[in-house]
Amino acid sequence: MKSDLPPLRDVIRTHDLAPRKGLGQHFLLDLNLTARIARVAGDISEGTTVEVGPGPGGLTRALLEADATVVAIEKDERCISALAEVSAAWPGRLEVTKGDVLKVDASTIGGTPRRIIANLPYNIGTELLVRWLSRPDAFTSLTVMIQKEVAARVAAGPGSKIYGRLSVLAGWRWKVTQALDVPPEAFTPPPKVESTVIHAVPLESPVAEADATILAQVTAAAFGQRRKMIRSSLKSLGDSQALCAAAGLDPTQRPEQISVAGFCALARAVAEQ
Ligand code: SAM
Repeated sequence: MKSDLPPLRDVIRTHDLAPRKGLGQHFLLDLNLTARIARVAGDISEGTTVEVGPGPGGLTRALLEADATVVAIEKDERCISALAEVSAAWPGRLEVTKGDVLKVDASTIGGTPRRIIANLPYNIGTELLVRWLSRPDAFTSLTVMIQKEVAARVAAGPGSKIYGRLSVLAGWRWKVTQALDVPPEAFTPPPKVESTVIHAVPLESPVAEADATILAQVTAAAFGQRRKMIRSSLKSLGDSQALCAAAGLDPTQRPEQISVAGFCALARAVAEQ
């Protein structure tokens, strides 16, 4: 630990970082916990680690302790001077950009191997995950703290009530583990929900071939009306009976019964009709 850096509570006080709800600010002040999160990501000493929302820098410190070279994107101006102190403690290893991550293409930041590690603002967590999960070519891993309920949806398999678009998108090209559950009390201030750190690593090859855009359309149509049989919910995509036949699927099934490979077969059928 860099003993010359002040405790995070002092950083928050000195830099007037009273947490703002609108920015999803729930800070982690326990450096043992941030070190555990960094360990979930494995060896991060090579390439670039992109951190979204470093805030007062608790997780950032852990990433730097683990020998990462970090590019951090933070929207809150107040955090920038606090992070300058962290940057000075690890010269040349932390670059902080002030900006909105929603306007940034993280897939081109720094060099490879490129990974994302973040305690995400929950109001934009799902949107960011969808974006990053669509780029297994760009990221060697995603290690992110999200709401426990969203983490469960990402990792869900067919047959489960929470299996949905996010599960198919993740399961198609990533191996996802729910690595660490974190209770509300671990944050300042505590959020209303439980949290989980997920760790996602790209599969060597996708579960099955499919065009990403068409797969997104198929899952949107099917899960958009998840109580309906697919022969009914897929009508917007063409002759749904013929599509099911071409994909080798029972048209009376509901979407939560269809595997990732089944959705890929449907996407190929749509492409070929
Ligand atoms: N990493 C810190 C920690 O673990 O203590 C803070 C995590 S806090 C849950 C989320 C952080 O994301 C906040 O610092 C917040 O200011 C930042 N943030 C929120 N919306 C953002 C956006 N659109 N772009 C970049 N940063 C954002």
